Amino acid sequence: MMTQYEIVVGLETHIQLNTETKIFCSCKADSWGAEPNTNICPVCSGLPGVLPVLNEAAVQKAALLAAAMHAEINPISYFDRKNYFYPDLPKGYQITQFDEPIGKGGYLDVHMPDGSARRVHIHKLHLEEDAGKTKIEAGRRLVDFNRCGVPLVEMVTEPELHSGEEAAQYLTELRQLLRWIGVSEADMERGHLRCDANVSIRETGSAVLNTKTEIKNMNSIESIRQAITLEAQRQIATVEAGERVESYTLDWDADTGTLRKMRSKETEADYRYFREPDLLPVKLSADEIANIYKRFTEKPQDKILELEPGSFSITGGNVTLTLTKIEMPYDRKMRFIEDYHLSAYDADILTSERSLSDYFEEAVRLSSAAPKTVSNWMMNDLLRLMNDLGKSASELHLRPAELAEIIDMVESGKISPGTGKALLKKVEESGQKPAEIVAAEGLGLIGDEDALRSQIAAVLSESPNEVASFRAGKESLLGWFVGQVMRRTGGKADPKRTRELLLEMLKK
Ligand SMILES: [Zn+2]
Repeated sequence: MMTQYEIVVGLETHIQLNTETKIFCSCKADSWGAEPNTNICPVCSGLPGVLPVLNEAAVQKAALLAAAMHAEINPISYFDRKNYFYPDLPKGYQITQFDEPIGKGGYLDVHMPDGSARRVHIHKLHLEEDAGKTKIEAGRRLVDFNRCGVPLVEMVTEPELHSGEEAAQYLTELRQLLRWIGVSEADMERGHLRCDANVSIRETGSAVLNTKTEIKNMNSIESIRQAITLEAQRQIATVEAGERVESYTLDWDADTGTLRKMRSKETEADYRYFREPDLLPVKLSADEIANIYKRFTEKPQDKILELEPGSFSITGGNVTLTLTKIEMPYDRKMRFIEDYHLSAYDADILTSERSLSDYFEEAVRLSSAAPKTVSNWMMNDLLRLMNDLGKSASELHLRPAELAEIIDMVESGKISPGTGKALLKKVEESGQKPAEIVAAEGLGLIGDEDALRSQIAAVLSESPNEVASFRAGKESLLGWFVGQVMRRTGGKADPKRTRELLLEMLKK
C-alpha cells in the first residue's frame, strides 16, 4: 500500500510598517528606488556612541496589527539584542523583541476557494528593525544600509498550513488585511511583505513534526505556491527512496522555478539574546490602546473601527480587545453579497481595498439606483478610469456623491449612458459638478416631447421606403430608425422614449 503524506507548512513573514521614518532614527523609512547609502544616519548605520529613540508610530501600527490578528497586546513589552555578525548589520546586533513581544497569540482565518476556512494561529508577533542589503558585483561584495532600521513586524504562524495553495491563500489574505488597516503597503515586489516557509512532511494521521527545511527569497505569492509544492514533492521522493530529509535552508530561484541549497540552519541559542539596554520597556495602557483605535477611526474611510466603551478590557495582565467592531475584508465581502445582492465576484473585487469598498457603500447610500447598478458602474467604468489614471478610490477627484449623481441622471433619462460614462472622466479632470458640465456642454437628453416628436417626424419623412417596409411587417427596422433619430439629435434623444414614440408614430 502507498503511504499517504501530509504536508506541514509554517510561514514566517516580515511586514514593513508604512511609517514616515525608521524605527529608531529620523531617516525616511521607505528607500525604494533611492541610491545606496543615501538614506542613513549615525544611528541606523551603527556608529559608536549613538542612542536609538523609539518611533511611536511603529508601536501604534504594530499594536493595531496585533489587534487585527486577534492577538493580545502586551501592556509591557521589551526590546532585545539579537547578536550575529553579517556585513549588512553594522551594529553587530539587531534590535528585536524576544520573550516579551508586543503581541501574544492571535490567528487569521484563511478562506479557501471551496468555501472551507482554516484558522491559522500566530506563534510569534513582534517589532524589530530591518538589516541592510548586500550584493556581489564584479567580484566585490557591496553593502547598502538604506534598509537598516526600517520598522518591521515579524509574524510567525504555527505549522498549520497544509499545501502551497493554502500558504498562498494565507499570504493573499494577510496582504489584504495589512492594506485594509493601513499599516503596510504590503507590496511583495518592493519587499514590504517578505515570506519564508518551513516545510516538512509526515504520514497522514501522525502528530509528529518531522525535520523541516526552510525556503527563502520567495517574493511573490505565486513563488510561494510553487516553491512549497515543489519542496514537499522532493521530501516525499526522498523518504520514498529510503533516505532522510536533512535540515537546511533553500533559496527559491523564480527565474528557473527551482530550489537551491544555501546553508545549514543556525539555532536560536547562537544569537545570545539579551535586553536592549539603550531602550526603555514599551508600556501601553488601555487608554493608549483605545487612543490608537480612536486615531484610526477618525478618518471617514476608517469607519470600520467603531470602538464602544468597554470593548477592550484588561484580563490576566494583558489587554484583550473585543474585535467584533472591526469588519475585516472577508466579513465585508459576505455583507455585500447579503445586503446588496452582489455576486461573489463583484463583492470580492469591491472589497479588495478598503477605500474602494467605502466608496461603493457611500455611492449606494447617495444614489437612488439599485446597489447592483452602482456595482456595475464601478466594476466596468470606474475601475477602468482608476486603472488608466493609476489612482486608488481615495485619490479620485470624482467622489461617490458625483458618481451617484451621474448614475441617477442616466437612470432617470436625463442623459444617455454614453454621456454618463464620458462624464466620469470629465468630472475627474475638471473638478466640476456633473450637472454643471451637462448644462454647460448641452449634454442633456431632449426632455421636451414635442421637440422629440418633431425630430422623429423629420426622420420618417426623409425615409419613405423604410417606413413602407416597416408598415409592411419588417419590424426589425425599428433599431435603424432609433439610430437615425440619435444621429439627428447628436445622441441627445432618450433611447427608451424614442423607441416608444417611434412605435406610436410608425403605426399610424
Ligand atoms: Zn538613520
